[in-house]
Amino acid sequence: MGAFTVAKMPASTSKGEIPFQDLVAHHRPFQDELATAIARVVQSGQYINGPEGTAFEREAASTLGALHAVALSSGTDALLALLMALDIRRGDEVVTTPFSFFASAGAIARLGAVPVFADVDEQTLTLDDTRAADRVGPRTKAVLTVHLFGRVARTTMLEQVCAAAHVPIIEDAAQAVGACGDSSRWGRHVGTIGRAAALSFFPSKNLGALGDGGMVLTGDGALAERLRLLRAQGASPKYHHPLVGGNFRMDEIQAAALRVKLPRLFLWTERRRQLAARYRAQLAGVPVGLPPEDAGCVWNQFVLRVGAGRRDAMAKHLAAARIATAVYYPEPLHLQPCFAGLGHKAGQFPNAERACAEVLALPLYPELGDDAVDRVCDEVRAFFATAAATAVNPASW
Ligand SMILES: *Cc1c(COP(=O)(O)O)cnc(C)c1O
Repeated sequence: MGAFTVAKMPASTSKGEIPFQDLVAHHRPFQDELATAIARVVQSGQYINGPEGTAFEREAASTLGALHAVALSSGTDALLALLMALDIRRGDEVVTTPFSFFASAGAIARLGAVPVFADVDEQTLTLDDTRAADRVGPRTKAVLTVHLFGRVARTTMLEQVCAAAHVPIIEDAAQAVGACGDSSRWGRHVGTIGRAAALSFFPSKNLGALGDGGMVLTGDGALAERLRLLRAQGASPKYHHPLVGGNFRMDEIQAAALRVKLPRLFLWTERRRQLAARYRAQLAGVPVGLPPEDAGCVWNQFVLRVGAGRRDAMAKHLAAARIATAVYYPEPLHLQPCFAGLGHKAGQFPNAERACAEVLALPLYPELGDDAVDRVCDEVRAFFATAAATAVNPASW
C-alpha cells in the first residue's frame, strides 16, 4: 500500500479556483490501471454476473470487516433491496432521521412503508438514539440510522430498545465506508453495528465507482442470500421466482474499477482525517460551528455551521474568492412536498431544521493541498472581518 500516492492538485489551482472536488485529479495516479481493468472486462465478454463482481464482493468483505458483501446497482437500490429483504411492506413503520439525503426516506416510502422521523442530535447531526428509541412502537419494522458526513451515529439507546422489540437496526452508510463507531478508530465498523449497512459508490463518495454502484454489508448470511435473489428479479433457480425482486445488479466494469480503488481507500481516509484536523485547528476561535472531533469519522464532508442567517452570505463570499461550497441539505425530509401526507409541521424537528439553515460544506478530498485548506480558512475568517458580519457562534455544531 506504500506504493500508492495521492495526486497533488496542479499548482495553478492553489492560487485560483478551489473546486468542491476533483475526480480527474483523484483518478490520475492510477488511470492506466483503471483502463487495464476495464479492457479486461471488455475482452471477457461477460458484463454482468461475472468474476469481477464476485471478486469485488470478497475483497470488500475482508477489507471492510464484514462477513458478507452483496454488490448492487446503487446506494439507493442497496437501501431499497435491504428493506425488501427485511420484508418491509405497506403500512409498516421505519424510524429514521429527518436530516439526510432523500434516498434514506425515499426507499422506505417506495415500499408503501411510513418513515417515522425522530430529530437529530444537535452535536452530531445524526439520528438521536434516545429520541429514535421513543418512536419505536408496535408497527415499527426497522430503524434506519444514517452515518451522515462520514460519522457513525450513536446507537446505544436504540440497541437496547430494538433488541427487546425484535426490531432490526439498519445503517445508511452511503457516506461512511470504513467508518468506526464509539468515536474510536478501533471501534465497530459500519456494517457490524446494525443488522446490515448500505454503501454507495456514487462517484463523490469516499469510494466512488466510474458511475453508479452500491453494496450491502452484513453478518447475516440468510439476509445476504435474500439480497442475491432480490437483485436478480427474486429468481432461484432462473425463471422460478420465490420473491418479487428487481434488477439491482452491479455491472462488471464498475466492479473492476472498484477493485482498483479499494486498496487505496485507507490512504485516502487518512488524508481526509488530516485535512479535517487542519480545518478544525485553523478555524478554532472563528465564530462558526465546527464538527466535533471523532477519530472513527471518515469525513465524507467537512460541514461548518454559520449562524444568524449568515450561511448564504458566507457561501457567496467564498464563491467570490473562487472557493466552491455546497449545502447538504437545504430542506429537511419531513417538510418535503412528497411527504406532505404525513402531516408534519415546521418546528417539529428543530435540530434538523436549524441544521438545514446553517450548514455549509467546505472542499475536502484527498487531493486537496494543505495550502488550499489554509486559503479557505483565511477567507472564512475574512468574511467575519467584513462589515455587518456579526454572526453569533452557534451554541454547538
Ligand atoms: C449518496 C447517498 C445515498 C444514495 O446513494 P446512490 O448511490 O447515489 O444511490 C443514500 N443515502 C445517503 C446518506 C447518501 O449520501
